[in-house]
Amino acid sequence: MNDLPSFRSDITVELVKHSASDTDVLWAARVSTAGEQSLEEVGKDPERSKGLINFLMRDRHGSPFEHNSMTFLVSAPIFVFREFHRHRVGWSYNEESGRYRELKPVFYVPGEDRNLVQEGRPGKYRFVPGTAGQRSLVRKVLEESYLRSYEAYQEMLAAGVAREVARAALPVGLFSSMYATCNARSLMHFLGLRTQDERAKVPSFPQREIELVGRRMEEEWARLMPLTHAAFNANGRVAP
Ligand SMILES: Cc1cc2nc3c(=O)[nH]c(=O)nc-3n(C[C@H](O)[C@H](O)[C@H](O)COP(=O)(O)OP(=O)(O)OC[C@H]3O[C@@H](n4cnc5c(N)ncnc54)[C@H](O)[C@@H]3O)c2cc1C
Repeated sequence: MNDLPSFRSDITVELVKHSASDTDVLWAARVSTAGEQSLEEVGKDPERSKGLINFLMRDRHGSPFEHNSMTFLVSAPIFVFREFHRHRVGWSYNEESGRYRELKPVFYVPGEDRNLVQEGRPGKYRFVPGTAGQRSLVRKVLEESYLRSYEAYQEMLAAGVAREVARAALPVGLFSSMYATCNARSLMHFLGLRTQDERAKVPSFPQREIELVGRRMEEEWARLMPLTHAAFNANGRVAP
């Protein structure tokens, strides 16, 4: 039996695996001066450690921030992955396949708190909530269009057409899922571009849905590497 179509506004991010802590940054950096004793140096003097991480961030000595790993399971609409996969360096991805399995009819509809109307000019856009009429129109039109495309997909599958051909009927609002693995340096580069924050030296204007993914990743990372996260914020949220 086919799944019934469903509509979602939430985007989920789960940290599934990690090996990441501030001490990973410290031992990597201290090999410069302490050689193979750098592991023993870790944790000797917390204030010095904090200062060292801040110095590395400020002067953009980036490689000590690469000796760690975080794997996230992300469930989001395809248009988010399309933006996400532009981040090529320090990221590994595996996404569910539309060739090897039938895609589930789970579709994105903006939640009540998603601003719908864009004002201003490129690079200076501002988003405002929109009227109640616009909100119900978006919901109605998206749902109708999703249902029509899912029917088209099912019609082709029922006629024996391959999944990889029939999926062309499906929209970018369809949910997909992926594992994404990164290190703190590549995550910081991503966060600098895909989150908005008043502490950022170089402001960015990301789409809200990918920003939600970034925010959730940042929460997990901040818990694992609090000193690195604090230094990132203190130095204008620019990846070293
Ligand atoms: C707000 C916003 C709007 C955007 N709008 C558009 C758009 O309209 N159209 C569009 O196509 N894209 C758009 N993008 C995507 C953007 O152009 C980048 O592809 C994306 O942000 C990934 O950034 P990156 O290349 O720095 O990251 P990564 O691919 O992870 O690269 C990290 C860093 O490695 C270096 N690097 C990587 N590859 C190369 C290379 N080939 N040569 C030299 N140095 C390299 C660079 O220093 C780069 O910053 C947008 C991004 C943002 C944040």
